Amino acid sequence: MIRIESKRNKFTYNIYHIVKAFYPGEEVEQKVDAQQESLVTLHMPGDSSFSVLPEEIGLPVIQDPDERQLQTEKWAVTRRVYQYLAERNKSGLAWGILTGVRPTKLIMQKIETGGGREDILRSFQEDFVSREKAELAYEIASREHEILSRLDCTEGFSLYVGIPFCPSVCSYCSFSSSPIDQWRDRVDAYLDALVKEIRALGKMTAGRTPDTVYIGGGTPTTLEPEQLDRLLGTITECFDLGRTLEFTIEAGRPDSITEEKLRVIRNYPVTRISVNPQTMQQKTLDLVGRRHTVEDVENAFHMARKLGFDNINMDLIAGLPGETAADMRDTLAKVEALHPDSLTVHALAIKRAAKFGQEGRTAQLHSEISRMVEDASACARRMGLKPYYLYRQKNIAGNFENVGYAEVDKAGIYNILIMEEKQTILAAGAGASTKILLREPIREESGKEIGIVRIENVKNITDYINRIDEMIERKYRDGISLWRGEDVR
Ligand code: SF4
Repeated sequence: MIRIESKRNKFTYNIYHIVKAFYPGEEVEQKVDAQQESLVTLHMPGDSSFSVLPEEIGLPVIQDPDERQLQTEKWAVTRRVYQYLAERNKSGLAWGILTGVRPTKLIMQKIETGGGREDILRSFQEDFVSREKAELAYEIASREHEILSRLDCTEGFSLYVGIPFCPSVCSYCSFSSSPIDQWRDRVDAYLDALVKEIRALGKMTAGRTPDTVYIGGGTPTTLEPEQLDRLLGTITECFDLGRTLEFTIEAGRPDSITEEKLRVIRNYPVTRISVNPQTMQQKTLDLVGRRHTVEDVENAFHMARKLGFDNINMDLIAGLPGETAADMRDTLAKVEALHPDSLTVHALAIKRAAKFGQEGRTAQLHSEISRMVEDASACARRMGLKPYYLYRQKNIAGNFENVGYAEVDKAGIYNILIMEEKQTILAAGAGASTKILLREPIREESGKEIGIVRIENVKNITDYINRIDEMIERKYRDGISLWRGEDVR
């Protein structure tokens, strides 16, 4: 157990996440005491402790510091704690003191304000980020910046449509998804509600074109061909897709893909699909409840290629239960033989590793996953794919990042938009989250200024069906009306 005592509430988030990144398997307890002398004290296992005193960071102790002073103190304390933990562990963290999930967002801001490459890399290294990670983040942010310059980020928007059903629920799943067999008799009712919401969004955005459309979930291809046809038909009828840059549908699970469904999709202007193996190891697929074979993945991929899909993404997860770096190498060899147009490599979050009873293997997992992630990166680059988006999960095993690689001009633009929060995303479906980027920040009742309004649809499928009118009305009242400059709240 590690105990953290902080003088200010403001320090707790950073210090907790830095400690957790160094000691992912350790229980961490926190307390705040405004009267304590030290800014932060860590009580480490084995009775040793470490304190950061005000004089050590060279800042005067101010009784009621303003926000600016608090920020300065917070980062000075974070740096000092990081240095202590890095010395104690004889090794630092690849991402240094950066605790946020979107390190590329920081670089993007610097690029937008005219920052040069070397200055940006130097500032990352001052935060103890390794040169390698700083260069990776810079490469990705520059690519994202170029891709986003093709979009209208103020007036434009993207559309997300969620299908919350899957053939079976994978044991590591972090999404809200239900097995389709339990919902067969209600899928049409779900589609009725979804179609109603899509039509309403079409009317609310009349005159504007979505830059990207993304149908995700869940697994959209769990829908029957005629249901897919109805969904895709509604989207194309309600929105002008003439200038849409990307239209993705996740075909995700190969056990949901049939030639008939792919033919339906080909009838619409879909530009990109995902066929996701996660691993090409049969023992792991069986263990995590994927209920399909390695051959199913290969057959689905070949079928999609034969039908003319020229932008196919594949997702892999590093660190699935029982997998070694050798398993990952074998998976990568099989994926390389298929040669997808983009590859997304996720690292299994430590929370889920714990679910598989692997919490005791943290150190071993760390080095295995580290090798897997490096091998996946090398494989992607061998296939000519370049990194184009990156995010870090909280509590991800070993503080790793998830990276998307793609051929030039086949990057998933919607993925970038989600990560960088650069455009309004209107979302339909159970659990779908709409994100409205405001032209001018507004002040909430609490007095806090916000530039993004988030509106979540209910997750429960039955509630979504029953309360669809309320979902639509709320989306307009609390978000879309602000975006359109017609505040009706
Ligand atoms: S296919 Fe994806 S969304 Fe569906 S259960 Fe598995 S991990 Fe979750």
